[in-house]
Parts: sequence; C-alpha cells; structure tokens
Amino acid sequence: MNRIWDFVKAWADGLSLMIETLLRALGRRSRQLKNLASGGDEEQNDLPTGKRLSGEKPRALLFSVASHNLKMENTKRKIKALALLSGGLDSMLAVKVLQEQGIGVTGLVFSSCFFDARQAQEAAKTLGVDLLIEDFSKKHLELVKNPPHGYGKNMNPCIDCHALMFRLAGEIMRQEKFDLVATGEVLGERPMSQNKQSLGLIEKESGLAGYLLRPLSAKLLAPTISEQEGLVDRNRLLAISGRQRTPQMELAKKYGIKNYPTPSGGCLLTVAEFSQKLKELLDKYPQATSDDALLLKQGRQLWQGDIKFVVGRDHQENLTLEKLARAGDLLARAKNVPGPTVLVRSYRGKKPDRMGIESQIKEYLVKYNSKARDREVKVEWLSG
Ligand code: SF4
Repeated sequence: MNRIWDFVKAWADGLSLMIETLLRALGRRSRQLKNLASGGDEEQNDLPTGKRLSGEKPRALLFSVASHNLKMENTKRKIKALALLSGGLDSMLAVKVLQEQGIGVTGLVFSSCFFDARQAQEAAKTLGVDLLIEDFSKKHLELVKNPPHGYGKNMNPCIDCHALMFRLAGEIMRQEKFDLVATGEVLGERPMSQNKQSLGLIEKESGLAGYLLRPLSAKLLAPTISEQEGLVDRNRLLAISGRQRTPQMELAKKYGIKNYPTPSGGCLLTVAEFSQKLKELLDKYPQATSDDALLLKQGRQLWQGDIKFVVGRDHQENLTLEKLARAGDLLARAKNVPGPTVLVRSYRGKKPDRMGIESQIKEYLVKYNSKARDREVKVEWLSG
C-alpha cells in the first residue's frame, strides 16, 4: 500500500512541476507580446537582440513576431523616407509610390542663387507632404567655380551638383533619423547621368550606399537595405526605364497629378545667356560670392573695365536692385525723369568714384529710357 502511495505522490509531483514550467513559459511569452505591442523596453533580454534604429523597436522583435506567424501590420513601425523633391513629375511620382505603401514621406529640396524652391513648394502642397528647404548657395557656387567632373552644355556642373545634393541629403537623413533617401530618378532616362553605372557611382560617392531608393526603377536595381529587411515592399515598387515618358504619364493620370513643371527645372546654370554672364563675372572676379551671382539675374549687365553697371528694366527690378545693393555699391537714377535705377559695383576693391562715372550713368539713363530721349538728365544718387 505504501509503495502505491509513494508512486502516486511521485507522479503528482512530476505533473505539478510540468504544469508550473508550462505556466512560467506562457507568462513570459505573454509579457513579451505585451511589451512588443506597447513598444516598451521591458524584458527584451528574453528575445534575440537586434539593431536598434532611432529609438524604435529593435528589428529582431519584428522578426521574432513574424516567426510566430502573428500579423505584423499592427506592430511594424512606420518607415520615414526623405524624398528629394524637385517638383518635377518623376519626383512627385516617387513620393506617391512610397505613400501608397504607407511610408511616411518628407520632401527635401535644395535652393541656391541659381534656382529656387517654388516648384517643390507647389508639389509638396499637391502631395500633402512636409518640405525641408536647404539653401546651399555657397557650396553650389564653389562647385560651379571648380567642378571636378566639369560642366554640362553650359555652366551647369550637374554630376558634381547631384553628388553634393545626395551627400547633403545623406547628412540630413542621418541627423533627422530618416530610414532612407528616395529620388525620382529613372534608369536610362538621361543616358549620361542616369545609367546603371552613374546611379551606382552617385550612391557610393554620396555615402548613401544601400540607403538610396529609386522607387520608379527600383525593381531594375539592387535592393536597398530597407527592401532587404522587408520594411519597404519591393513588389510594390516599379520597373520603369528609358526616355519614353508614357509610363510616367499613365501614373500621373492614376494619381490625379495634373500640374507639374517641365523636367528642365529652372536652374539658371543650364541657360546659355545666364552662363555667359556668370563666366564673364568669374573671369574678372574669381572670388565672386552668391550676392554677386544673385545680381546677375537682374537688369542689363554692363561692364566698364572692372566696374559693373546694372540697369533695371522695370519697376520691380529697380526695387530689387535697391535691396541687393551692399556696402561700397552706388545707386543712382534720373532726378527729373521717371526711369531705371542703376546699381554700380566695383570689382577693383575700392568704391567707384561718383565724379568719374557720372557721365556713364547719364548715358545709360538716357539710352535705356525712351522718356529721357533728347532730354537733359540730372543724376540723383540714392546711396553711396
Ligand atoms: S541643373 Fe543645376 S541644380 Fe540641377 S543638377 Fe545641374 S547644376 Fe545642379
């Protein structure tokens, strides 16, 4: 009888131990899942460790849940993409493709003394995204003066300019904790700058290897880190290539994008006439600053040796010249006839002498003002 009792007791103890172990295991798993749902840090040591991104959940947690066949949609963190948004159609479509799979997109546009951010601001409104505007005038001008890869058709150093923009975008991506940089580049759209080799080169030189996503051509390119890790669904990216714009037109229709600017984008460095003015300035004065470059956009540019006269062509330009005048510049207009304002800037290192240039100013005030023809013009000095 005693032996039977001992046997039953041993069997009951064993069963109790099994139940206790099972309950402990269930409790631990429940805490892990609760922790995952809340995004908290408790007891993560129970799980495999993973790379932590910007204070978000370690990726290993996501993999852990996936391996238990639980639905990831509720726990997957939202990816943040920084999209280079010029305002052109391709850059807008790239944003749309990412938004379509629930990726949070912030636009980034560069502005300089050679182009502004207006197109991108319009596009950002249409797309409903925030826009970061980065003025890189100083860096851009330095590149224009000495581009390692040379110029395009005019004074546009596009290869180096792209590399600079991507490098700066990479810095912003890291500082602001974005997951990737996206662009609207299309493989083969520009045979020189958008072939596979140059896309790869730009990616490498900008320090963005693995983080540069081109949603419109992604399926034709190597997967980025976000695609490899399943944070971006590669199947929902596109495989557009070549110069034919039909796929982009169809996408624009699908997304209801009606207004978008032409692909040239409004950079003055691609304009022959402006490039000529810039070249003349840099030949005479290699130390030119972005202020000098901004002045090139206004009025008639007339040189007398090392002195430049800028004659306003309308009321708006006259006002702008007044705003752009800096210490050492002279500003003049006709006292007795309404007409242009003239800004005078010396690139000789000293202020222009009023007496020495007054007759020249008079000549311009008459030549570029039909109301002043055959009249005796008196010069009024506005500054200097
Ligand atoms: S067109 Fe102007 S802004 Fe665009 S890449 Fe070339 S130089 Fe840079």
